[in-house]
Amino acid sequence: MADIIQLLPDHVANQIAAGEVVQRPASVVKELLENAIDAGSLTIKLIIKDAGKTLVQVIDDGKGMSVTDARLSFERHATSKIRNADDLFLLNTKGFRGEALASIAAIAHVELKTKQEDDEVGASIVIEGSNITSQDVVVTPKGTSLSVKNLFFNIPARRNFLKSDTVELRHIIDEFYRVALAHPNIAFTMYNNGSESFNLPISNYRQRIVNIFGNKTNEKLVPVDEDTEVLKISGFVGKPEYAKKTRGEQYFFVNNRFIKSAYLNHAIASAFDGLLKSGTHASYFLNLTVNPQTIDINIHPTKTEIKFDDEHTLYALLRSAVKHSLGQFNIAPVLDFER
Ligand code: ADP
Ligand code: MG
Repeated sequence: MADIIQLLPDHVANQIAAGEVVQRPASVVKELLENAIDAGSLTIKLIIKDAGKTLVQVIDDGKGMSVTDARLSFERHATSKIRNADDLFLLNTKGFRGEALASIAAIAHVELKTKQEDDEVGASIVIEGSNITSQDVVVTPKGTSLSVKNLFFNIPARRNFLKSDTVELRHIIDEFYRVALAHPNIAFTMYNNGSESFNLPISNYRQRIVNIFGNKTNEKLVPVDEDTEVLKISGFVGKPEYAKKTRGEQYFFVNNRFIKSAYLNHAIASAFDGLLKSGTHASYFLNLTVNPQTIDINIHPTKTEIKFDDEHTLYALLRSAVKHSLGQFNIAPVLDFER
């Protein structure tokens, strides 16, 4: 009998992994912004052309990479963020899988420029479909610039599947909001087709929300603050009278990571029971700080889902914290004639 099993070459494995990590330009935006944050940046600039189909570039002033690390960063499972599986439960970085850059480089034209503070010159690498096509030393400021051009150039089916520029840009802005809301202590700017769309200076959380959603948001916000042994809850919920028909402004972060959880969203919604007109949804911007040992983020490549050790307790605490805040601000139930 002939043996028929072969190991896939790296570029093929990377392209397959990319399918999970990179769905659209917005996924690239998320990965690059998260890398910039993990690098300890104070200022992060996002540049978009043609809704990210032509260019997604992130420029940061973080710690940069050495020449060797710059090369290694494009290898699969290459990461500076964890050393063993136990580290997964001590995480204070966004990344840990070491997959994003390898995946992105497998399906786009990527240019990296990076320099560490104490180095005279930095490294420049061009990599296209997992092949390094040029490598040089460059004069470049401290930090990292990563440009991702022509996403899915070698996967026409994926490229054709991309939606209109309006839709893809909407997804990019959603990612930008999520990251910017989780990090008011970092300044963000975003440029779209050459013009500035956002300029968010370093600020406190309330100010960051207002800078993104407009001055009128300020009067809508009710602070939530609860510190228990199990977790810390902080942030804001929108006053019930400002509830909207759409679920737009519902942001829920766990340890500074945007998380989707139908169960915990329900906890918040139930705290608003009797306060909302039917068919409307309250807005919220809530941060949970929990011991990283009590959660598992490694259940999906995009890391927007999370497994909690004790979901029921979180549910109850979250619900009561929000109820408490609404009560303190003397928000009485509305008479709902539509029900
Ligand atoms: P992960 O973030 O999961 O470690 P990535 O593929 O996103 O995996 O990045 C690989 C490695 O490249 C990171 O662990 C980090 O050491 C380095 N790196 C990536 N982006 C940056 C950046 N903007 N600044 C400094 N180092 C970076
Ligand atoms: Mg990463």
